[in-house]
Amino acid sequence: MAAIRCAGEGWKTLVLERKHNPSFVTRTCAQAFFTPVAGYDPSPRFYREKVSLVTNASGLHQFRFETLSFNLDYHGPLIPMRRFVYLSPSGNQLDRYPTGGNSTWCVEFNKEEMLGYMLEKARGAGVTIMAGFSVTGATDTGWGVEVQVKSKDEDAVYRARRLVAADGVGSKVVDSLGWNAGRKVLMPLFKALSYIVDDVTPDPDLASRSAAFFMVPSIHKAGLSSVGPYPETGRDGRWQVVFSGGDGWEALRQSPCYKGWFGVSRVVRRTAAGARCYFPLAEPARGNVIAAGDSAALFETLVSGAIACGYQAAGAIVGELNGRPGNASYNRWWREAFAFNDPDTPAAPAALPLLQLCTDDEMDSLFLALRGKNGVPGELALAHLEEICRLAPAVYPKLKSAAERLMKAV
Ligand SMILES: Cc1cc2nc3c(=O)[nH]c(=O)nc-3n(C[C@H](O)[C@H](O)[C@H](O)COP(=O)(O)OP(=O)(O)OC[C@H]3O[C@@H](n4cnc5c(N)ncnc54)[C@H](O)[C@@H]3O)c2cc1C
Repeated sequence: MAAIRCAGEGWKTLVLERKHNPSFVTRTCAQAFFTPVAGYDPSPRFYREKVSLVTNASGLHQFRFETLSFNLDYHGPLIPMRRFVYLSPSGNQLDRYPTGGNSTWCVEFNKEEMLGYMLEKARGAGVTIMAGFSVTGATDTGWGVEVQVKSKDEDAVYRARRLVAADGVGSKVVDSLGWNAGRKVLMPLFKALSYIVDDVTPDPDLASRSAAFFMVPSIHKAGLSSVGPYPETGRDGRWQVVFSGGDGWEALRQSPCYKGWFGVSRVVRRTAAGARCYFPLAEPARGNVIAAGDSAALFETLVSGAIACGYQAAGAIVGELNGRPGNASYNRWWREAFAFNDPDTPAAPAALPLLQLCTDDEMDSLFLALRGKNGVPGELALAHLEEICRLAPAVYPKLKSAAERLMKAV
């Protein structure tokens, strides 16, 4: 996005991308564009400016960045998602959001098709795209930047007036500039992986427009396991199964309640993500460099937030090169636009770590005790301990002790 806008403003612009095919996504992403549900906020700790997804009368989809007043066309498939369902080991369900009405909690899109279109737009604007070029570091020389680059054929240094470091979480550029020195670490290693799969056959009531999150301790206790549709032009019925914290694919395929979903399934490909997560940079725009998107973030800016960063970074650069204080206004915008920069936003809402605390049987009884309520199971359990005491007495003592430990810690 930064390159599209800079080139559009008449600047000679170069993108260096380490992958040979820049729009091929190898880093796990659930590809949800979040659409806030009244009374709930599905992305409270991320990008918080107003964005929407609209389809005009001629069928053109657009991501509208309403606060920043720009649009991005989208030509790929979309699946509006109605249900966000948590599933217990034997199939009991809890919905995160109310299911009545027509509201959607997110729209699934295809990131590769979005990136493909953005690349086309960038080339059309005059951007030079060099794929297969890995940036190994950068130096701010005062006048501009020197960027060290490695490719199959050579090691080289590129010089420019300005640099946008959009190399994602674990940014080599940010690290090489020394900007991680003294930056606090939230998580030494975050891991996620996904399986893109054909021929999944979930229960009919979950078969379309639903994402299912497995709350099954015997699959894995370390993070989340989910399955949801993976929209792709020309291919119906493709799914993505995402695990964070560890791999649960074989355990999911063997689990008595869910193995039927995956009996004839075929893995098309896999993606993965792994990184040390630093607290966000307070000043991502310094000197001749702007760290945009995940490279400056706590954990993730989301796709919408990363695009907004690119747009704003280009605006800041054009401002600076025309003698205006672009860096200062970028830093101010960054601190306000992302909830993780707000000291009043907790890193995560208080919740009981149910996957770590419960056995499969206990999770089933807990789901029955919470039946009919909407929310995140760990948060619901914390809020409804008295009902759990009455309806699931066997699991109550350990949840009560965990709740007491949690309350002492906050
Ligand atoms: C498990 C998981 C699920 C997610 N689900 C969602 C979701 O549902 N919705 C949502 O909006 N967001 C989601 N996200 C977050 C989202 O993927 C990111 O916030 C977003 O992609 C950040 O964009 P970015 O451009 O800053 O970084 P990236 O998307 O990481 O892009 C960085 C680019 O830089 C390139 N690069 C990296 N290093 C170098 C280098 N040294 N030299 C040259 N090029 C380099 C990479 O190849 C890549 O093309 C999820 C993330 C994870 C991990």
